[in-house]
Amino acid sequence: MSNHMFDAIRKAARPDAPFIETPDGKVWTYGDMLEFSGRLAHLLRALSVEPGDRVAVQVEKSPEALMLYLACLRAGAVYLPLNTAYTTAELDYFIGDAQPRLVVVSPGSEDGLRPVAQAHGARLETLDEKGGGSLLAQMSGEGADFADVARAADDLAAILYTSGTTGRSKGAMLSHDNLLSNALTLCDYWRFSASDRLIHALPIFHTHGLFVASNVILLSGASMFFLPKFDADTVLRLMPRATALMGVPTFYVRLVQHEGLTREAASTMRLFVSGSAPLLAETHKRFREMTGHAILERYGMTETNMNTSNPYDGDRVAGTVGFPLPGVSLRVVDPETGAAVANGETGMIEVSGPNVFKGYWRMPEKTKAEFRDDGFFITGDLGKIDERGYVHIVGRGKDLVISGGYNVYPKEIETEIDLFPGVVESAVIGLAHPDLGEGVTAVVVAEPGKEVDEKAILKGLEGRLARYKQPKRILFVEELPRNTMGKVQKNILRQSYADLYQ
Ligand code: ATP
Ligand code: MG
Repeated sequence: MSNHMFDAIRKAARPDAPFIETPDGKVWTYGDMLEFSGRLAHLLRALSVEPGDRVAVQVEKSPEALMLYLACLRAGAVYLPLNTAYTTAELDYFIGDAQPRLVVVSPGSEDGLRPVAQAHGARLETLDEKGGGSLLAQMSGEGADFADVARAADDLAAILYTSGTTGRSKGAMLSHDNLLSNALTLCDYWRFSASDRLIHALPIFHTHGLFVASNVILLSGASMFFLPKFDADTVLRLMPRATALMGVPTFYVRLVQHEGLTREAASTMRLFVSGSAPLLAETHKRFREMTGHAILERYGMTETNMNTSNPYDGDRVAGTVGFPLPGVSLRVVDPETGAAVANGETGMIEVSGPNVFKGYWRMPEKTKAEFRDDGFFITGDLGKIDERGYVHIVGRGKDLVISGGYNVYPKEIETEIDLFPGVVESAVIGLAHPDLGEGVTAVVVAEPGKEVDEKAILKGLEGRLARYKQPKRILFVEELPRNTMGKVQKNILRQSYADLYQ
Protein backbone atom coordinates (compact mmCIF):
# COMPACT_ATOMS: atom_id res chain seq x y z
CA MET A 1 0.00 0.00 0.00
CA SER A 2 1.32 3.38 -0.75
CA ASN A 3 1.26 6.69 1.01
CA HIS A 4 1.72 9.24 -1.76
CA MET A 5 3.71 11.88 0.11
CA PHE A 6 5.51 9.84 2.70
CA ASP A 7 6.70 7.18 0.24
CA ALA A 8 8.58 9.93 -1.58
CA ILE A 9 10.07 11.22 1.68
CA ARG A 10 11.09 7.69 2.61
CA LYS A 11 12.76 7.19 -0.75
CA ALA A 12 14.99 10.23 -0.23
CA ALA A 13 15.83 9.39 3.39
CA ARG A 14 19.29 7.87 3.94
CA PRO A 15 19.19 6.73 7.58
CA ASP A 16 22.68 7.95 8.51
CA ALA A 17 22.44 11.33 6.81
CA PRO A 18 21.77 14.41 8.95
CA PHE A 19 18.32 15.94 8.65
CA ILE A 20 18.05 18.59 11.36
CA GLU A 21 20.61 20.41 13.47
CA THR A 22 19.30 22.58 16.31
CA PRO A 23 21.14 25.60 17.78
CA ASP A 24 22.33 23.53 20.73
CA GLY A 25 24.17 21.24 18.29
CA LYS A 26 21.79 18.29 18.50
CA VAL A 27 21.51 16.39 15.23
CA TRP A 28 18.52 14.39 14.03
CA THR A 29 19.43 11.94 11.28
CA TYR A 30 16.95 10.72 8.70
CA GLY A 31 16.95 7.44 10.64
CA ASP A 32 15.86 9.36 13.75
CA MET A 33 13.16 11.06 11.71
CA LEU A 34 11.79 7.73 10.45
CA GLU A 35 11.84 6.20 13.89
CA PHE A 36 10.36 9.16 15.77
CA SER A 37 7.61 9.89 13.26
CA GLY A 38 6.74 6.17 13.23
CA ARG A 39 6.39 6.06 17.00
CA LEU A 40 4.35 9.22 16.94
CA ALA A 41 2.10 7.81 14.20
CA HIS A 42 1.43 4.79 16.45
CA LEU A 43 0.53 7.16 19.25
CA LEU A 44 -1.89 9.09 17.03
CA ARG A 45 -3.66 5.85 16.25
CA ALA A 46 -3.73 4.97 19.94
CA LEU A 47 -5.33 8.37 20.62
CA SER A 48 -8.11 7.43 18.17
CA VAL A 49 -6.92 9.64 15.32
CA GLU A 50 -8.38 7.92 12.26
CA PRO A 51 -7.39 8.51 8.63
CA GLY A 52 -8.99 11.76 7.50
CA ASP A 53 -9.22 13.17 11.03
CA ARG A 54 -7.77 16.62 11.59
CA VAL A 55 -4.97 17.20 14.07
CA ALA A 56 -4.81 20.89 15.01
CA VAL A 57 -1.44 22.07 16.28
CA GLN A 58 -0.52 25.39 17.86
CA VAL A 59 2.95 24.93 19.33
CA GLU A 60 6.36 26.58 19.29
CA LYS A 61 8.71 25.52 16.52
CA SER A 62 10.76 22.42 17.29
CA PRO A 63 11.94 19.27 15.50
CA GLU A 64 9.29 17.36 17.46
CA ALA A 65 6.59 19.65 16.07
CA LEU A 66 7.83 18.85 12.56
CA MET A 67 7.70 15.13 13.47
CA LEU A 68 4.05 15.61 14.32
CA TYR A 69 3.42 16.81 10.76
CA LEU A 70 5.22 13.75 9.40
CA ALA A 71 3.37 11.42 11.78
CA CYS A 72 0.06 12.84 10.52
CA LEU A 73 1.10 12.12 6.93
CA ARG A 74 1.97 8.56 7.89
CA ALA A 75 -1.22 8.00 9.91
CA GLY A 76 -3.33 9.42 7.10
CA ALA A 77 -4.47 12.30 9.30
CA VAL A 78 -4.89 15.88 8.12
CA TYR A 79 -2.31 18.19 9.66
CA LEU A 80 -3.63 21.58 10.65
CA PRO A 81 -1.00 23.97 11.95
CA LEU A 82 -2.05 27.23 13.56
CA ASN A 83 -0.19 30.49 13.96
CA THR A 84 1.31 30.75 17.45
CA ALA A 85 0.07 34.34 17.66
CA TYR A 86 -3.60 33.33 17.56
CA THR A 87 -5.52 34.02 20.76
CA THR A 88 -7.93 31.70 22.57
CA ALA A 89 -10.89 33.39 20.89
CA GLU A 90 -9.32 32.85 17.47
CA LEU A 91 -8.52 29.24 18.31
CA ASP A 92 -12.17 28.78 19.21
CA TYR A 93 -13.07 29.75 15.66
CA PHE A 94 -10.46 27.50 14.03
CA ILE A 95 -11.24 24.48 16.20
CA GLY A 96 -14.97 24.94 15.74
CA ASP A 97 -14.46 25.26 11.99
CA ALA A 98 -12.04 22.37 11.49
CA GLN A 99 -13.43 19.96 14.10
CA PRO A 100 -10.16 18.20 14.81
CA ARG A 101 -9.99 14.91 16.69
CA LEU A 102 -6.87 16.06 18.50
CA VAL A 103 -5.58 19.49 19.46
CA VAL A 104 -1.94 19.91 20.47
CA VAL A 105 -0.97 23.19 22.17
CA SER A 106 1.86 24.72 24.19
CA PRO A 107 1.66 23.90 27.91
CA GLY A 108 1.21 27.62 28.64
CA SER A 109 -2.09 27.78 26.75
CA GLU A 110 -3.46 24.50 28.09
CA ASP A 111 -5.76 26.00 30.73
CA GLY A 112 -7.30 28.50 28.35
CA LEU A 113 -7.80 26.01 25.55
CA ARG A 114 -9.02 22.95 27.42
CA PRO A 115 -12.62 24.27 27.59
CA VAL A 116 -12.41 25.21 23.90
CA ALA A 117 -11.28 21.73 22.89
CA GLN A 118 -13.90 20.16 25.13
CA ALA A 119 -16.67 22.31 23.71
CA HIS A 120 -15.79 21.07 20.23
CA GLY A 121 -15.32 17.44 21.24
CA ALA A 122 -11.56 17.33 20.65
CA ARG A 123 -8.88 15.75 22.79
CA LEU A 124 -6.19 18.16 24.06
CA GLU A 125 -2.49 17.37 24.53
CA THR A 126 0.52 19.60 25.03
CA LEU A 127 3.96 19.89 23.44
CA ASP A 128 6.64 22.44 24.32
CA GLU A 129 9.63 23.62 22.29
CA LYS A 130 11.91 21.09 24.01
CA GLY A 131 9.69 18.08 23.31
CA GLY A 132 8.16 18.18 26.80
CA GLY A 133 4.42 18.06 27.53
CA SER A 134 1.70 15.43 27.71
CA LEU A 135 1.78 14.26 24.09
CA LEU A 136 5.25 12.79 23.86
CA ALA A 137 5.14 11.56 27.45
CA GLN A 138 2.70 8.91 26.22
CA MET A 139 4.96 7.75 23.41
CA SER A 140 7.61 5.70 25.17
CA GLY A 141 6.15 2.25 24.64
CA GLU A 142 5.38 2.65 20.95
CA GLY A 143 7.29 0.63 18.35
CA ALA A 144 9.34 2.39 15.69
CA ASP A 145 7.94 0.43 12.75
CA PHE A 146 4.71 1.87 11.50
CA ALA A 147 2.86 0.64 8.44
CA ASP A 148 2.04 3.94 6.75
CA VAL A 149 -1.67 4.33 6.08
CA ALA A 150 -2.50 4.18 2.37
CA ARG A 151 -3.08 7.63 0.95
CA ALA A 152 -3.80 8.44 -2.68
CA ALA A 153 -2.60 11.52 -4.53
CA ASP A 154 -5.91 13.31 -3.98
CA ASP A 155 -6.31 12.53 -0.28
CA LEU A 156 -5.95 15.47 2.06
CA ALA A 157 -2.59 15.95 3.75
CA ALA A 158 -3.22 19.29 5.41
CA ILE A 159 -5.58 22.14 5.98
CA LEU A 160 -3.67 25.36 6.14
CA TYR A 161 -5.36 28.59 7.09
CA THR A 162 -4.40 31.60 4.99
CA SER A 163 -2.54 34.42 6.71
CA GLY A 164 -5.61 36.58 7.23
CA THR A 165 -3.98 39.61 5.62
CA THR A 166 -7.17 40.69 3.89
CA GLY A 167 -9.79 39.38 6.31
CA ARG A 168 -10.71 36.21 8.13
CA SER A 169 -8.39 33.27 7.40
CA LYS A 170 -9.77 30.52 5.19
CA GLY A 171 -8.83 26.84 5.50
CA ALA A 172 -7.14 25.67 2.30
CA MET A 173 -7.45 21.92 1.72
CA LEU A 174 -4.18 20.58 0.37
CA SER A 175 -3.79 17.06 -0.99
CA HIS A 176 -0.78 14.78 -0.84
CA ASP A 177 -0.06 15.53 -4.47
CA ASN A 178 -0.49 19.30 -4.06
CA LEU A 179 2.41 19.13 -1.62
CA LEU A 180 4.49 16.49 -3.33
CA SER A 181 4.28 17.80 -6.89
CA ASN A 182 5.20 21.32 -5.84
CA ALA A 183 8.08 20.32 -3.59
CA LEU A 184 9.57 18.07 -6.29
CA THR A 185 9.32 20.89 -8.80
CA LEU A 186 11.11 23.25 -6.42
CA CYS A 187 13.85 20.72 -5.61
CA ASP A 188 14.56 20.54 -9.29
CA TYR A 189 14.13 24.22 -10.18
CA TRP A 190 16.30 25.40 -7.32
CA ARG A 191 18.76 22.47 -7.70
CA PHE A 192 18.50 21.04 -4.22
CA SER A 193 20.57 17.94 -3.48
CA ALA A 194 21.61 15.89 -0.47
CA SER A 195 24.65 18.12 -0.02
CA ASP A 196 22.56 21.19 0.72
CA ARG A 197 22.17 22.68 4.15
CA LEU A 198 19.38 25.19 4.58
CA ILE A 199 19.09 27.82 7.27
CA HIS A 200 15.49 27.34 8.39
CA ALA A 201 14.40 30.37 10.40
CA LEU A 202 10.77 30.56 9.25
CA PRO A 203 7.74 29.54 11.31
CA ILE A 204 6.39 26.07 10.51
CA PHE A 205 2.69 26.96 10.71
CA HIS A 206 2.82 28.65 7.30
CA THR A 207 3.25 27.26 3.79
CA HIS A 208 6.67 28.90 3.38
CA GLY A 209 8.42 27.27 6.35
CA LEU A 210 6.41 24.06 6.42
CA PHE A 211 5.99 23.08 2.80
CA VAL A 212 8.44 25.10 0.74
CA ALA A 213 11.37 24.82 3.13
CA SER A 214 10.83 21.55 5.01
CA ASN A 215 9.41 19.48 2.16
CA VAL A 216 12.15 20.58 -0.22
CA ILE A 217 14.79 19.52 2.30
CA LEU A 218 13.06 16.19 3.00
CA LEU A 219 12.61 15.33 -0.66
CA SER A 220 16.18 16.11 -1.55
CA GLY A 221 17.58 14.28 1.47
CA ALA A 222 19.35 17.48 2.49
CA SER A 223 19.75 18.94 5.97
CA MET A 224 18.79 22.11 7.77
CA PHE A 225 19.70 24.30 10.69
CA PHE A 226 16.38 24.54 12.49
CA LEU A 227 16.16 27.88 14.31
CA PRO A 228 13.28 28.85 16.59
CA LYS A 229 13.06 32.23 14.90
CA PHE A 230 14.98 34.62 12.70
CA ASP A 231 17.88 36.37 14.32
CA ALA A 232 20.44 38.08 12.08
CA ASP A 233 23.41 37.32 14.37
CA THR A 234 22.61 33.60 14.48
CA VAL A 235 21.93 33.38 10.76
CA LEU A 236 25.25 35.07 9.98
CA ARG A 237 27.09 32.82 12.41
CA LEU A 238 25.70 29.70 10.71
CA MET A 239 26.01 30.97 7.15
CA PRO A 240 29.60 29.72 6.59
CA ARG A 241 28.31 26.18 7.22
CA ALA A 242 25.19 26.51 5.07
CA THR A 243 24.31 26.59 1.38
CA ALA A 244 20.83 28.13 1.27
CA LEU A 245 18.43 30.46 3.06
CA MET A 246 14.71 30.89 2.56
CA GLY A 247 13.17 33.99 4.01
CA VAL A 248 10.49 36.61 4.00
CA PRO A 249 11.61 40.09 2.86
CA THR A 250 12.08 41.24 6.46
CA PHE A 251 14.94 38.73 6.86
CA TYR A 252 16.78 40.40 4.02
CA VAL A 253 16.01 43.91 5.24
CA ARG A 254 17.59 42.99 8.58
CA LEU A 255 20.56 41.24 7.00
CA VAL A 256 21.53 44.20 4.82
CA GLN A 257 21.49 46.37 7.95
CA HIS A 258 24.03 44.04 9.56
CA GLU A 259 27.71 44.76 9.08
CA GLY A 260 28.45 41.04 9.28
CA LEU A 261 26.84 40.51 5.87
CA THR A 262 29.80 40.28 3.51
CA ARG A 263 30.94 38.31 0.48
CA GLU A 264 33.03 36.21 2.76
CA ALA A 265 30.19 35.44 5.15
CA ALA A 266 28.12 34.22 2.21
CA SER A 267 30.89 32.39 0.37
CA THR A 268 29.51 28.86 0.91
CA MET A 269 25.96 29.94 0.07
CA ARG A 270 24.50 29.11 -3.33
CA LEU A 271 20.91 30.32 -2.95
CA PHE A 272 18.89 32.99 -1.17
CA VAL A 273 15.13 32.74 -1.71
CA SER A 274 12.56 35.40 -0.81
CA GLY A 275 8.79 35.23 -0.81
CA SER A 276 5.46 35.66 1.01
CA ALA A 277 5.49 39.41 0.46
CA PRO A 278 7.12 41.78 -2.05
CA LEU A 279 10.86 42.27 -1.73
CA LEU A 280 11.86 45.89 -2.22
CA ALA A 281 14.10 46.40 -5.24
CA GLU A 282 16.38 48.43 -2.97
CA THR A 283 16.90 45.45 -0.67
CA HIS A 284 17.67 43.22 -3.66
CA LYS A 285 20.26 45.72 -4.86
CA ARG A 286 21.89 46.23 -1.47
CA PHE A 287 22.08 42.51 -0.87
CA ARG A 288 23.79 41.97 -4.19
CA GLU A 289 26.29 44.74 -3.51
CA MET A 290 27.14 43.30 -0.12
CA THR A 291 27.31 39.59 -1.01
CA GLY A 292 27.47 39.22 -4.79
CA HIS A 293 24.26 37.13 -4.61
CA ALA A 294 21.04 38.01 -6.41
CA ILE A 295 18.12 37.05 -4.16
CA LEU A 296 15.74 34.72 -5.97
CA GLU A 297 12.17 35.93 -5.48
CA ARG A 298 9.23 33.59 -5.94
CA TYR A 299 5.47 33.88 -5.61
CA GLY A 300 3.02 31.55 -3.95
CA MET A 301 0.01 31.33 -1.73
CA THR A 302 -1.37 29.01 0.91
CA GLU A 303 -3.94 27.82 -1.63
CA THR A 304 -1.55 27.11 -4.46
CA ASN A 305 1.87 26.39 -3.00
CA MET A 306 4.43 28.04 -5.29
CA ASN A 307 3.35 29.42 -8.64
CA THR A 308 6.32 31.30 -10.08
CA SER A 309 10.02 31.71 -9.49
CA ASN A 310 12.87 33.74 -10.81
CA PRO A 311 15.28 31.50 -12.70
CA TYR A 312 18.15 29.64 -11.08
CA ASP A 313 20.35 30.43 -14.07
CA GLY A 314 19.65 33.66 -15.85
CA ASP A 315 18.47 37.04 -14.66
CA ARG A 316 16.78 37.28 -11.29
CA VAL A 317 14.97 40.50 -11.86
CA ALA A 318 14.25 42.64 -8.80
CA GLY A 319 10.60 43.58 -8.46
CA THR A 320 9.44 40.51 -10.41
CA VAL A 321 8.53 37.01 -9.29
CA GLY A 322 9.93 35.30 -12.38
CA PHE A 323 8.29 32.67 -14.55
CA PRO A 324 5.48 30.16 -13.97
CA LEU A 325 7.02 26.98 -12.53
CA PRO A 326 7.04 23.87 -14.74
CA GLY A 327 3.56 22.34 -14.68
CA VAL A 328 1.90 25.58 -13.53
CA SER A 329 -0.26 27.50 -16.01
CA LEU A 330 -0.61 31.18 -15.26
CA ARG A 331 -2.65 33.79 -17.07
CA VAL A 332 -3.56 37.41 -16.52
CA VAL A 333 -7.18 38.30 -17.25
CA ASP A 334 -9.68 41.10 -17.06
CA PRO A 335 -11.26 40.52 -13.64
CA GLU A 336 -14.74 41.34 -14.93
CA THR A 337 -14.87 39.37 -18.17
CA GLY A 338 -12.21 36.73 -17.53
CA ALA A 339 -10.70 37.43 -20.96
CA ALA A 340 -6.91 37.38 -21.24
CA VAL A 341 -5.30 40.82 -21.35
CA ALA A 342 -2.38 41.72 -23.61
CA ASN A 343 1.18 41.24 -22.38
CA GLY A 344 2.27 44.18 -20.27
CA GLU A 345 -1.26 44.96 -19.17
CA THR A 346 -2.43 44.59 -15.59
CA GLY A 347 -5.15 42.14 -14.65
CA MET A 348 -6.10 39.34 -12.30
CA ILE A 349 -3.62 36.48 -11.97
CA GLU A 350 -5.16 33.03 -12.36
CA VAL A 351 -3.35 29.72 -12.04
CA SER A 352 -3.94 26.03 -12.58
CA GLY A 353 -1.82 22.96 -12.06
CA PRO A 354 -1.17 20.07 -9.69
CA ASN A 355 -0.16 22.63 -7.04
CA VAL A 356 -3.64 24.17 -6.75
CA PHE A 357 -5.66 23.23 -3.65
CA LYS A 358 -8.89 21.25 -3.43
CA GLY A 359 -11.00 24.12 -2.15
CA TYR A 360 -11.72 25.99 1.07
CA TRP A 361 -12.68 23.80 4.00
CA ARG A 362 -16.44 23.84 4.45
CA MET A 363 -16.86 26.88 2.20
CA PRO A 364 -18.33 25.42 -1.01
CA GLU A 365 -19.75 28.77 -2.12
CA LYS A 366 -16.49 30.62 -1.63
CA THR A 367 -14.62 27.79 -3.38
CA LYS A 368 -16.97 27.94 -6.33
CA ALA A 369 -16.60 31.70 -6.58
CA GLU A 370 -12.79 31.54 -6.68
CA PHE A 371 -12.52 29.04 -9.54
CA ARG A 372 -13.29 29.58 -13.23
CA ASP A 373 -15.22 26.93 -15.13
CA ASP A 374 -12.04 25.70 -16.79
CA GLY A 375 -10.45 24.98 -13.40
CA PHE A 376 -8.25 28.07 -13.06
CA PHE A 377 -8.02 29.49 -9.55
CA ILE A 378 -8.55 33.24 -9.21
CA THR A 379 -5.66 34.27 -6.96
CA GLY A 380 -6.94 37.72 -5.97
CA ASP A 381 -3.54 39.15 -6.93
CA LEU A 382 -3.21 41.69 -9.71
CA GLY A 383 -0.21 41.42 -11.96
CA LYS A 384 1.23 41.59 -15.43
CA ILE A 385 3.60 39.65 -17.64
CA ASP A 386 6.37 41.64 -19.28
CA GLU A 387 7.84 41.17 -22.74
CA ARG A 388 10.44 38.73 -21.40
CA GLY A 389 7.77 36.63 -19.69
CA TYR A 390 8.53 37.72 -16.14
CA VAL A 391 5.51 37.98 -13.89
CA HIS A 392 5.12 41.18 -11.87
CA ILE A 393 2.78 41.32 -8.87
CA VAL A 394 1.10 44.68 -8.83
CA GLY A 395 -0.84 44.17 -5.61
CA ARG A 396 -3.95 42.57 -4.30
CA GLY A 397 -7.28 43.10 -5.99
CA LYS A 398 -8.70 44.09 -2.63
CA ASP A 399 -6.09 46.85 -2.33
CA LEU A 400 -6.83 48.38 -5.71
CA VAL A 401 -7.87 52.00 -5.30
CA ILE A 402 -10.57 53.41 -7.54
CA SER A 403 -10.36 57.18 -7.48
CA GLY A 404 -12.59 59.34 -9.64
CA GLY A 405 -13.37 56.23 -11.68
CA TYR A 406 -9.73 55.48 -12.42
CA ASN A 407 -7.85 52.37 -11.27
CA VAL A 408 -4.85 53.23 -9.15
CA TYR A 409 -2.37 50.44 -8.41
CA PRO A 410 -0.82 51.12 -5.02
CA LYS A 411 2.53 49.54 -5.83
CA GLU A 412 3.25 52.07 -8.57
CA ILE A 413 2.76 54.95 -6.16
CA GLU A 414 4.66 53.19 -3.36
CA THR A 415 7.64 52.62 -5.65
CA GLU A 416 7.79 56.35 -6.45
CA ILE A 417 7.45 57.42 -2.82
CA ASP A 418 10.10 54.95 -1.65
CA LEU A 419 12.62 56.74 -3.88
CA PHE A 420 12.44 59.91 -1.77
CA PRO A 421 15.46 60.37 0.47
CA GLY A 422 14.59 59.59 4.07
CA VAL A 423 11.66 57.32 3.19
CA VAL A 424 12.01 53.74 4.43
CA GLU A 425 8.77 52.37 3.03
CA SER A 426 5.19 53.26 2.26
CA ALA A 427 1.72 51.80 1.91
CA VAL A 428 -0.83 53.37 -0.41
CA ILE A 429 -4.50 52.83 0.38
CA GLY A 430 -7.87 54.13 -0.77
CA LEU A 431 -10.09 55.89 1.76
CA ALA A 432 -13.71 56.88 1.31
CA HIS A 433 -13.80 60.33 -0.26
CA PRO A 434 -16.91 62.45 -0.87
CA ASP A 435 -15.94 63.54 -4.42
CA LEU A 436 -13.69 60.79 -5.68
CA GLY A 437 -15.22 57.63 -4.24
CA GLU A 438 -11.81 56.79 -2.86
CA GLY A 439 -8.96 59.16 -2.10
CA VAL A 440 -5.44 57.90 -2.76
CA THR A 441 -3.63 58.07 0.56
CA ALA A 442 -0.02 57.23 1.39
CA VAL A 443 1.14 56.04 4.78
CA VAL A 444 4.88 56.57 5.05
CA VAL A 445 7.62 55.40 7.39
CA ALA A 446 10.55 57.84 7.52
CA GLU A 447 14.08 57.00 8.62
CA PRO A 448 14.51 57.80 12.30
CA GLY A 449 15.70 61.37 12.75
CA LYS A 450 15.13 62.32 9.08
CA GLU A 451 12.88 65.24 8.21
CA VAL A 452 10.49 64.19 5.48
CA ASP A 453 7.51 66.35 4.87
CA GLU A 454 4.13 65.85 3.32
CA LYS A 455 4.31 68.86 1.04
CA ALA A 456 7.73 67.95 -0.32
CA ILE A 457 6.63 64.46 -1.29
CA LEU A 458 3.39 65.67 -2.83
CA LYS A 459 5.30 68.27 -4.83
CA GLY A 460 7.89 65.74 -5.92
CA LEU A 461 5.24 63.35 -7.18
CA GLU A 462 3.60 65.99 -9.35
CA GLY A 463 5.96 65.53 -12.25
CA ARG A 464 6.16 61.78 -11.88
CA LEU A 465 2.59 60.54 -11.63
CA ALA A 466 -0.62 61.38 -13.44
CA ARG A 467 -2.79 63.64 -11.34
CA TYR A 468 -5.40 61.00 -10.51
CA LYS A 469 -2.66 58.78 -9.07
CA GLN A 470 -1.21 61.47 -6.83
CA PRO A 471 -2.02 60.96 -3.14
CA LYS A 472 -4.38 63.45 -1.57
CA ARG A 473 -2.63 63.08 1.75
CA ILE A 474 0.61 61.63 3.09
CA LEU A 475 0.46 60.35 6.66
CA PHE A 476 3.51 59.41 8.71
CA VAL A 477 3.78 56.44 11.06
CA GLU A 478 6.65 54.83 12.93
CA GLU A 479 5.94 51.44 11.45
CA LEU A 480 3.38 49.76 9.22
CA PRO A 481 1.08 47.16 10.79
CA ARG A 482 2.30 43.70 9.78
CA ASN A 483 1.12 40.19 10.48
CA THR A 484 3.52 37.47 11.64
CA MET A 485 4.55 36.71 8.07
CA GLY A 486 5.72 40.30 7.64
CA LYS A 487 2.82 41.26 5.40
CA VAL A 488 1.49 44.80 5.58
CA GLN A 489 -2.11 44.77 6.80
CA LYS A 490 -3.73 47.44 4.69
CA ASN A 491 -7.17 46.62 6.08
CA ILE A 492 -5.94 47.86 9.46
CA LEU A 493 -4.64 51.08 7.89
CA ARG A 494 -7.94 51.57 6.09
CA GLN A 495 -9.81 51.16 9.37
CA SER A 496 -7.50 53.52 11.26
CA TYR A 497 -7.94 56.36 8.81
CA ALA A 498 -11.45 55.60 7.58
CA ASP A 499 -12.73 59.10 8.40
CA LEU A 500 -9.84 61.10 6.96
CA TYR A 501 -11.84 62.71 4.17
CA GLN A 502 -15.26 62.59 5.79
P1 ATP B 1 -5.47 36.07 3.32
O1 ATP B 1 -5.70 35.30 2.06
O2 ATP B 1 -6.03 35.36 4.50
O3 ATP B 1 -5.88 37.50 3.25
P2 ATP B 1 -2.64 36.03 2.61
O4 ATP B 1 -3.14 36.10 1.20
O5 ATP B 1 -1.59 37.00 3.02
O6 ATP B 1 -3.88 36.12 3.62
P3 ATP B 1 -0.93 33.77 2.24
O7 ATP B 1 -1.51 32.63 1.51
O8 ATP B 1 0.04 33.52 3.33
O9 ATP B 1 -2.10 34.57 2.90
O10 ATP B 1 -0.20 34.74 1.24
C1 ATP B 1 -0.35 34.69 -0.16
C2 ATP B 1 -0.25 36.08 -0.73
O11 ATP B 1 1.03 36.65 -0.41
C3 ATP B 1 -0.33 36.12 -2.22
O12 ATP B 1 -1.66 36.05 -2.68
C4 ATP B 1 0.36 37.44 -2.53
O13 ATP B 1 -0.55 38.52 -2.38
C5 ATP B 1 1.42 37.54 -1.45
N1 ATP B 1 2.76 37.15 -1.95
C6 ATP B 1 3.40 35.98 -1.83
N2 ATP B 1 4.62 36.02 -2.39
C7 ATP B 1 4.75 37.27 -2.90
C8 ATP B 1 5.78 37.97 -3.60
N3 ATP B 1 6.93 37.39 -3.89
N4 ATP B 1 5.54 39.25 -3.96
C9 ATP B 1 4.37 39.85 -3.68
N5 ATP B 1 3.37 39.27 -3.01
C10 ATP B 1 3.56 38.00 -2.62
MG1 MG C 1 -4.76 35.20 0.29
